[in-house]
Amino acid sequence: MNSIVCVKQVPDTEIRIEIEDGQVVEEKLQYVINPYDEYAIEEALRLREKFGEGQVTVLTLGPERAREAIMQALAVGADEAIHLADEAFQGGDAYATAKALAEAIVRLGLEYDIILCGKQGVDHDNAQVGIALAEMLNLPHVSLVTKLEVADDKSKATARREVEGGKELVETPLPAVITAQKGLNEPRYPTFTGIRAARKKPIHKKTAAELNVDPETVGAAGAKLGIVSLSPPLERSAGHIISGNPVEACGELVRLLREEAKVV
Ligand SMILES: Cc1cc2nc3c(=O)[nH]c(=O)nc-3n(C[C@H](O)[C@H](O)[C@H](O)COP(=O)(O)OP(=O)(O)OC[C@H]3O[C@@H](n4cnc5c(N)ncnc54)[C@H](O)[C@@H]3O)c2cc1C
Repeated sequence: MNSIVCVKQVPDTEIRIEIEDGQVVEEKLQYVINPYDEYAIEEALRLREKFGEGQVTVLTLGPERAREAIMQALAVGADEAIHLADEAFQGGDAYATAKALAEAIVRLGLEYDIILCGKQGVDHDNAQVGIALAEMLNLPHVSLVTKLEVADDKSKATARREVEGGKELVETPLPAVITAQKGLNEPRYPTFTGIRAARKKPIHKKTAAELNVDPETVGAAGAKLGIVSLSPPLERSAGHIISGNPVEACGELVRLLREEAKVV
């Protein structure tokens, strides 16, 4: 069972993000693997184990620092990686990102039975790249998957999705793109031997020129959306603590809602 896992590096959400002059202050950031992509990696490893054969290929678009995320994916058991580190690939929107990933898959002639992505990147939260990638590769896709079963002949998969007020069971022919939702599995941790083995695993860095991709179609040049401005969320004013017995407190709450918040 050959799978491709699209893995993005994102700022650690535990770290406070600072914005100066409309730009994220990158120096103060620490980076991690996008949490939803950890479920995607784990699912790919489990499928390889289920079928007892196959390759797990990590595909990452990102600057040099994204190599850390790739190494983590290799340390838990992925076999090899493709790193789209070329400046031409950077700074694009979800469409341009998906385009670059699709071009790499097609032009490198990667063989796959399934493509796994996270449901969204926790930094830009587009939740689009996986679906756009499926469209560009003319593949079916199932998003927000919390349970995945692949048929023994690898011809199709049954995916469970959490939807408003219930669960949906979707059957899809393979190959297909699956986006992983929290709960799909319990990602494993890298072992010491896994971390050591990762250093020997191949990471193929590819430029737009090497892939013969027109740089005007990817990255910032290929973006359909431009970020107009970036500003930190407004500081929340301190809340009110209302004391006194319940009746008095209720009266005071209504007065505040009416006179200050003006919502009643
Ligand atoms: C310097 C910079 C400039 C930017 N400029 C713009 C801009 O002008 N307009 C704009 O709209 N956005 C811009 N972005 C944001 C950019 O759109 C997103 O980072 C990118 O499209 C992915 O969005 P997302 O994580 O929200 O994707 P989602 O659609 O939420 O990602 C879903 C899944 O797709 C896969 N995936 C996503 N990104 C990658 C990746 N890089 N490598 C491998 N797999 C991936 C992962 O599996 C991920 O879980 C910029 C980002 C940067 C860093």
